Amino acid sequence: MSATKWFSADYENMNGLQSTQIQCPYCWETFETTVDCSVPEQTYTEDCYVCCRPIVLQVVTDGENIVCVQVSAENQ
Ligand SMILES: [Zn+2]
Repeated sequence: MSATKWFSADYENMNGLQSTQIQCPYCWETFETTVDCSVPEQTYTEDCYVCCRPIVLQVVTDGENIVCVQVSAENQ
């Protein structure tokens, strides 16, 4: 049995948390991160899991689901 999925990626929604894939702007590796969707607009820094450099994430949600995630290098 499989439910209808509106998003192709492996999104999950538990307590407003959703995981999404982001790409490191330094080493271009992709990895999964978790977003708190209860905050509609947020900017925060997360260290890359691979190269450990600080990635600035700008996240927009509709209160329940991720609308947009942008990543950028910290010192641009
Ligand atoms: Zn990296």
